[in-house]
Amino acid sequence: MSLDASDPVLTVSGLTLSYDIPAGELKALRDVNLSIGKGEIVGLVGESGSGKSTLMQAILGLLPGAAQIRSGSIRFEGQDLTGLSARQMRGLLGDRISVVFQDPMTALNPVLTIGRQMIDIQHRSKLSRREKRARAIEMLARVRIPDPESRIDRYPHEFSGGMRQRVAIAMALMAKPALLVADEPTTALDATLEIATIDLLRELQSEIGCAVLFITHHLGVVAELCDRIDIMYAGEIVESGATGAVFQDPRHPYTQLLFGCDPAQIAEPMRHLPSIGGNLPDLTAPLPGCIFASRCPRADETCTTGHPADHKAGQSDLVRCHYPLAPRLEISA
Ligand code: ATP
Ligand code: MG
Repeated sequence: MSLDASDPVLTVSGLTLSYDIPAGELKALRDVNLSIGKGEIVGLVGESGSGKSTLMQAILGLLPGAAQIRSGSIRFEGQDLTGLSARQMRGLLGDRISVVFQDPMTALNPVLTIGRQMIDIQHRSKLSRREKRARAIEMLARVRIPDPESRIDRYPHEFSGGMRQRVAIAMALMAKPALLVADEPTTALDATLEIATIDLLRELQSEIGCAVLFITHHLGVVAELCDRIDIMYAGEIVESGATGAVFQDPRHPYTQLLFGCDPAQIAEPMRHLPSIGGNLPDLTAPLPGCIFASRCPRADETCTTGHPADHKAGQSDLVRCHYPLAPRLEISA
């Protein structure tokens, strides 16, 4: 299949996935649609349990045995990843697709030196061992590891947490992938290190030109880093669009309330931080209506009985709500 330069790198269409658990079928993803263009940085935001990591694992072919893809497709550079064997998927990982996890030790082997791991990861390259080592040192310098010529022969435990995450980012980008998937890579870092890591990621990404799927629950990071934002709630993408547009004019009630809860957006000091009342719905129960209906101040009978379609509304490309043009909701503390 031939690819057009304007074709997205990754297109997830109608992805529906369940976990088989003792209580029944946990519907973790329902009709998820997401697209990432070449060189684009897309932020995927949602509260804990909304399905962000499940979606990431589905893209990377790393789903646990209890997960069953019921329908939909995940196309990467024109190829449907849901039909690939484990061996074919391994061929893509670390080459065309790379990943950075929240805990850098997921990527690093504690009993091997950083240098050995950075050389091993270049196993597809035709460079000599000496050249691979030189490239690894160069990459360590790029991610601002001090004294990389001697640090390269140290073990992961001899690095700080922030340094380990920078090494993991360096390793993920060494193969110059077309897509980098990052699942909360800065959540374990303090605020200063988080900003430095984001700046570094953006710098390397613009050099390499790879697309990035950046998973986080930190809205400030999305505003800072991402071209587009996808808002996930209880297994569904409820709103998607250009970052500036969605921040300025959110159309889904969940997005509106979520932005209202962001401490960075609150101008006046207050005793209690605002929050959205209620909890995520039980994903093992039947879900006939809108997934947000039980917590939505605007919900009526239409919302509790019928599943909303995806609409284009305001400047957002996708709003999964029966009333995407209704006035903006404000949250109270
Ligand atoms: P967090 O922000 O806490 O990382 P998340 O958005 O990444 O959350 P997921 O880990 O994808 O959320 O979980 C989505 C839903 O799927 C949750 O209800 C969770 O309990 C369930 N789930 C996740 N992994 C499994 C599993 N291996 N077996 C059964 N259920 C699972
Ligand atoms: Mg997660």
